[in-house]
Amino acid sequence: MLKISNTLSGKVEEFQPLDPQQVRIYTCGPTVYDHAHIGNFRTFVFQDVLKRYLRFKGYAIFHVMNITDVDDKTIRNSGASTLAQLREYTSRYSAAFFEDCDKLRILRPDVVAHATEHIPEMAALIQTLAAKGYTYQKEGSTYFKIAQFKDYGKLSKLDAEGIMAGARVDVDEYGKQDARDFVLWKAAKNGEPHWETALGPGRPGWHVECSAMSMKYLGESFDLHCGAVDLVFPHHENEIAQSEAATEKPFVRYWMHGEHLIVDGEKMAKSKGNFYTLRDLEEKGFDPLAVRYALQSVPYRRQLNFTFDLLHQSGKSLARLQDFKLRLTTEKLRPGSGPKAGEATAAALQQFEKAMDDDLNTAQALAAVFDWVRDLNTELSEGRLCENDRQAALRALEQFNQVLELWKPAIHVKAGGGSIKLSGSASVEFLSEVDEQIRNLIEQRSQARSARNFALADQLRDRIYELGYIIEDTKEGIRWKKR
Ligand code: AMP
Ligand code: ZN
Repeated sequence: MLKISNTLSGKVEEFQPLDPQQVRIYTCGPTVYDHAHIGNFRTFVFQDVLKRYLRFKGYAIFHVMNITDVDDKTIRNSGASTLAQLREYTSRYSAAFFEDCDKLRILRPDVVAHATEHIPEMAALIQTLAAKGYTYQKEGSTYFKIAQFKDYGKLSKLDAEGIMAGARVDVDEYGKQDARDFVLWKAAKNGEPHWETALGPGRPGWHVECSAMSMKYLGESFDLHCGAVDLVFPHHENEIAQSEAATEKPFVRYWMHGEHLIVDGEKMAKSKGNFYTLRDLEEKGFDPLAVRYALQSVPYRRQLNFTFDLLHQSGKSLARLQDFKLRLTTEKLRPGSGPKAGEATAAALQQFEKAMDDDLNTAQALAAVFDWVRDLNTELSEGRLCENDRQAALRALEQFNQVLELWKPAIHVKAGGGSIKLSGSASVEFLSEVDEQIRNLIEQRSQARSARNFALADQLRDRIYELGYIIEDTKEGIRWKKR
């Protein structure tokens, strides 16, 4: 039974979706004013592990994520005065965000909701709140009256003083009656993109965006809403206030918040200048999967300290897993079952699931996998691992990988290199610069492809990649490039 830590109740609870067949999730997506940094991606990887584990447990998932493509930062950085200019600017960064997600093997949401495409829904929600007496207008902006919503503070557990302190640092608001109140609709400023609505010319506040879009696609009450801990207050507290004031129904059942990626004791953040993007790390030669490994190596509720040593260690751990899979796939084995491997595999699967059921304890889950890899490597070396064990181990690998997504290195093709011509069927003509080991592997892979054993062919391609070469199949033959 999966247990998760629910910020709303402050407890670790058994997870029970409203609809037993399908879990409905909303995650707060990026603000697309620049490239996301790996601190942001720690949160997106945590959410990806959550989704993958829910799938592993047999649930179907419906996931919605927003893209904040209008706010102070996107307007400031783009210098846009029209919506078209703003879109041109933000679309670059949302495309870059999804490229990075793909490299980190983060599953795509079912719906990606852009704030600028949901203005009517936001205006309608604000009008509902106005009709119920939760809003006031000042200088063309509309504010939410916090004093009117009796449950305000139930997520963050902040008292009035804490709310005041938090509200003061929330730069997205201005000109309000009570320092705690937050803006729903911002009056248009000269030279800034804006919309004409029944609320007057302006643009939406950040909080209303997530309430309107999550309820549009997931209904007034849904299962899970996630972000990093900095979103608990004010963003998620305000989402609850807006949504529950409007619908008079419980908005979200489980709120999950991931801890930060930190650097020298401080949160990794754009404003602090202590950040790396995935692109920065790739330029330094790190494999995006090593970054994914690092980000999920510590359970999401614990802070993770970023260092280059962590990335190096993660790269090594990843290579061990990948070597193991290659060995497991390629070694010649006797038929039947050995004395230990079957039991070790069943136990590893159990421990893995137990760790993940415990509020997604990825560190323990990885420990279970590594203990198993060590045991099976011993069985292989001592000739005790047999064909049935291999099949069971490959199935287990498949299951671990459904959640961890670590067993296949990313292949990025860069310019330069050479080519290998295939003459006839599988015979290969090599360029002299390719060393013997690579040559053998390319040959084996080519034979595997001819035999239509594509799983093995992929394994061999991965191995070649690890040894520093990228190969591509073309009509003319196999092309190789040094990476
Ligand atoms: P933003 O693009 O600023 O809206 O942030 C996207 C997501 O990244 C949000 O869920 C943030 O809470 C989260 N985030 C920002 N900085 C960090 C960090 N250092 N570690 C983990 N998550 C972060
Ligand atoms: Zn949000």
